[in-house]
Amino acid sequence: MRTGINHLFIPGPTNVPESVRQAMNVPMQDQRAHDFGAGNLSLFSDLKKVMRTTAGTVMMFSGSGTGSWEAAITNTLSPGDKVLMARHGHFSTLWAEMATRLGLDVELVDLAWGAATPVNEFARRLAADRHGKIKAVFVTHNETATGVTSSIAGVRAALDTAMHDALLFVDGVSSIGCIEFRMDDWGVDLAVTGSQKGLMMPAGLGILGVSPKAIEASKTATSRRAYFEFSEQMKHNPGGYFPYTPPTQLLHGLRKALDRMLEEGFDTIAARHNRLASGVRAAVQAWGLETCAEHPSIASDTVTAIKTPASVDAREVIRIAYDRYNTSLGSGLGPLAGKVFRIGHIGDLNEGMCLTALAVTEMALAEAGVSLTYGSGVAAAQTIYAAPITNAARVAAE
Ligand SMILES: *Cc1c(COP(=O)(O)O)cnc(C)c1O
Repeated sequence: MRTGINHLFIPGPTNVPESVRQAMNVPMQDQRAHDFGAGNLSLFSDLKKVMRTTAGTVMMFSGSGTGSWEAAITNTLSPGDKVLMARHGHFSTLWAEMATRLGLDVELVDLAWGAATPVNEFARRLAADRHGKIKAVFVTHNETATGVTSSIAGVRAALDTAMHDALLFVDGVSSIGCIEFRMDDWGVDLAVTGSQKGLMMPAGLGILGVSPKAIEASKTATSRRAYFEFSEQMKHNPGGYFPYTPPTQLLHGLRKALDRMLEEGFDTIAARHNRLASGVRAAVQAWGLETCAEHPSIASDTVTAIKTPASVDAREVIRIAYDRYNTSLGSGLGPLAGKVFRIGHIGDLNEGMCLTALAVTEMALAEAGVSLTYGSGVAAAQTIYAAPITNAARVAAE
C-alpha cells in the first residue's frame, strides 16, 4: 500500500494542476455542432501567445511530440533533402533517426552528451553551403535527456549571417511554455511541442507552430503524409474545427492550462523555472556531484541531469526513490542509463515541491552509496528559494 502522493519529478508527463484535471471532467461533445468551433478559437490564439508568434499558424494533432516532429518534416521537406542537425542526447538522436527513416539526407554533427548545439560549427557549415543544399536546420532547444538548453537566437544569427534560406525547425517539447521561447523573434519556421510537459496537461496533443515560410514550403514538399497533412487542418481550424475527431477533454484542459499561464505571465513562468532550477543546481553542487550539462551557462531550467559517481548505479537511486519514498525521478536514457538520473522541474511546481525532491534524493543517494551530509542540498536550495523573488536575469549556479 502506498500512502500519500507519488511525487512526480520526471521531465514529462508533468504534474497536471487540479483545476486542469477538473476542467477535463466534462461530458462528450458533438464535435460537428454549430457552436463547437467557436469555443476552440481562443486555444489557437492563446497558443500563439505561448509560442510568441503573430505571423505563425498553430496546429494541434492527436498525438505526442514525436507526432509533431513527423508532421513538421513530412509537410515541409522532400525525400533526399539535406538537413543539418547535432546529436547530443537521446531526443536529438531520435529526431535524427526519424529524419533518416523519412528519407532525408541527415548531416549530423556528433557531440558529447552534455554539449549544446554548436552554433559556430553550424555557422561554418551554413556559410560553406554555397548552393543551398541544406534545406533545414534542426535544433533541440532543450535536450531533456542531458538537461541542456541551446541558443535558438544563435542558430538564427548563423543562418542570417550566412544569408542562408534553410527552414529552422525547433524541438521545443520541454521548453515551450516554461522557458523563454520566441518563435517570431528567432525566425523559427517549425516549432514543435506536446501537451504533457510545459503545458501541464496529459499527453495526447501534438502542437505545432508553423511560419508563413513553412506553409509555403508545404505546398511543394513531396514527402508522403496523410494523417498529418497541414492543408486539412487549415481547412477546418479557422472555424475552430478539426478534420478528425479531436480529444475534446484535452481541449477543455488546455483552455484551463492556458488561463493559468496567461494569469501567471510568461516572463514570470520563466523566472520561476529559473529560480527552481537554480535551487536544484545548488543542491547538486552541495552534494559534490556533477551535472551532465557541460557548463552552467547551458544548464536547463526545466530538467537537471545528474551524474552519479562511477561506483554508484544511478538506476539504484531512482529505484530507492520510487520504492521507498514514492518519488519518481527521471532515468538516464540510452548510453546514460546507470550513469545519470534526472530531476524534472518543469510545469506546475513550487519551492516546497522541489525541496521534497531534493530531500528524497539525498536519502536515495545515501542509500545507494553516495557519501553526503543530509540536508546539504536542501539547505543550498533553501538559501536560493528564500531570497526575495525578482524577475531579474538568470541566477547561474557557478
Ligand atoms: C518528451 C520529448 C520528446 C518526445 O515527445 P513525446 O511527446 O514523448 O512524443 C521530444 N523531444 C523532447 C526534447 C522531449 O523532451
